[in-house]
Parts: sequence; C-alpha cells; structure tokens
Amino acid sequence: MISIITILGAGTMGHGIAHAAMAGGYETRLYDVSPAALEHAREAIDAIVRRGVELGKIAPDQATAAMARLQTMSELGPALDGADFVIEAAPERIDLKLELLGEIERLVPAGAVIATNTSALSITEIAGALRNPRRLAGMHFFNPVHKMRLVEIVRALESAPETIAAIEEVARRMGKETVLVREAPGFITSRVNAIIGNEAFYMLQEGVASARDIDKALKLGLNHPMGPFELVDLVGLDTRLSVLEYLHRSLGEKYRPAPLLVQYVKAGRLGKKVGRGVYEY
Ligand code: NAD
Repeated sequence: MISIITILGAGTMGHGIAHAAMAGGYETRLYDVSPAALEHAREAIDAIVRRGVELGKIAPDQATAAMARLQTMSELGPALDGADFVIEAAPERIDLKLELLGEIERLVPAGAVIATNTSALSITEIAGALRNPRRLAGMHFFNPVHKMRLVEIVRALESAPETIAAIEEVARRMGKETVLVREAPGFITSRVNAIIGNEAFYMLQEGVASARDIDKALKLGLNHPMGPFELVDLVGLDTRLSVLEYLHRSLGEKYRPAPLLVQYVKAGRLGKKVGRGVYEY
C-alpha cells in the first residue's frame, strides 16, 4: 500500500506532480537542491489549490487538508526515508539523473518503486544506475500537470510488472488516465507531435499556406486545441528542434528537422519566451 510519495525536483513538472500527489491523498514530500525553487513551488501549488476552491472543484476544508499533506524538503535523506514511491523530475541530464538514482537507491526502502519523468532519455539506461533495475519505469506527465489528464507509463527493458502496476495505481489516484508504452524514442505523444509540427514547417516553407491558416485548419478542421505554430511557440522552437534531432538520429530520415525551423532557431526566434517565434508577441 503506497502512502508516502517523494518527488525529486520542484520545477515546472515537479510542483505540478506534487500537487497531483497531495490531491490524490498521498503524504507528499517535494525535494529540491534549490530553496528558491521549493519556495516558488509551494506558492504555485497554493495558487492551484486556491483557484480550485474558487472554481468550486474542491471544498475549502479539503484544500486545507491537501496542503497539510505537502512537505517541502531540501535534504535528500529525510525526503526519501520511509518513502513508498519516488518520482524523479530533476533536469534532463543523464549524468545528473544517474547520480541521483544511485543516491535514491541507497536511501529509500528496498520495496519502494522509482519512476522517472524524463521526456527523452533512455529509461533503461537510467535504470542501469540501480542494483535492482526492475523497480524503475517511466512516468511521463504533461505540462501543466494539473490540467493535462494523461500519463504515459514507459516500460524499460527490465521494469517488473509490479512496478508498472504501482505506477498505474498512483496515476489513477492522481486522477490521470494512462497508456502503456514500450520504451521507444519520443514514446507516443512526442513522436506524433514532432512529425505534425515538422510537417507544418515544411508546408510553411513550401508556401502551401500561411502560418495563421495552417493553425486555423488544424484547429477547426481536425479539432486540435491549438495550431502547430501556436504550440511550438509555447514549447520553444529550440526544444522542438532538439526533439526532432534526437528522433532523426534514433528513428531515421522521416524526422529530419525542416530547414525553416532550423533557420528560425538560428535567428533566435525561439518562441513566446523571447517574444518572437513563428509569431511576434
Ligand atoms: P525544471 O528545470 O523546471 O525543474 C528542475 C528542478 O530540478 C529545478 O527546480 C532544479 O533546482 C532541480 N534540481 C536540480 N538538480 C537537482 C537534483 N540533483 N536533485 C533534485 N532536484 C534538482 O525542469 P522540468 O521542466 O520540470 O523538467 C523536469 C523533468 O521532467 C525533465 O526530465 C524533463 O525532461 C521532464 N519533462 C518536462 C516537461 C515539460 O514540459 N517541462 C514535460 C514532461 C517531462
């Protein structure tokens, strides 16, 4: 029975995952090396909970009880002591994750399940840092976590069925739907999304239609909530390019980044975060 969840990394994803865990009734510990990140995370979680109360999604006393289940912690040992389930949401760097995983295994109880929220690193390679790689699998959340319903569960080469079952259970209690994916570059969502976004750049480059009309066509004709250019401006053109380069390297020619996307990145048109991407802000 899982009752204590520890989330490592309190950034964009970690704070949202912590919110989902405490809302799901778990005793939630959020760890980060940066005290400032922990402070921001607590404020962001508090804002999500207060908005939930305003919208009538959660009763005030439930909100207070949920906040009481959250602990922010800046020491790894106490954060992992007695934890049943760990979700790693630290920066996307393999060296950092391998080191952190070694530490986790040393500090958590032997029966604890370990999940990683990596977007693109090899989960099998991350599991390789453990003496018992069977206890680890991918648990891929979407941003913003409190609004996005899906979790992709990613089975690494040696993930045990009990590990997958535990992740399914936690995701369900967090109110998420799950899909199960065998480890493969881009899982389901990033792979399909990269192809759609790349095709949109090829069409723009060929002069098939304007950016506005390509966005409008996908929204009104195919029921996508956002157009591919609106989305890439939000995600960051540099981030999209690095995903495509990775898929191109690992899956082949189909994923070659459109030359126009490469040019936009070279020009510094990285998206909303810098005030201009495909569109100007
Ligand atoms: P982020 O940079 O917003 O947050 C990472 C946090 O980890 C920071 O607060 C940082 O201080 C902290 N950190 C640094 N070193 C640490 C350590 N040794 N131990 C614990 N914490 C440490 O990053 P993010 O966007 O939240 O991404 C986290 C993970 O989630 C990455 O693997 C990323 O690929 C994945 N992911 C991101 C998204 C997204 O849309 N941002 C979506 C799905 C998955």
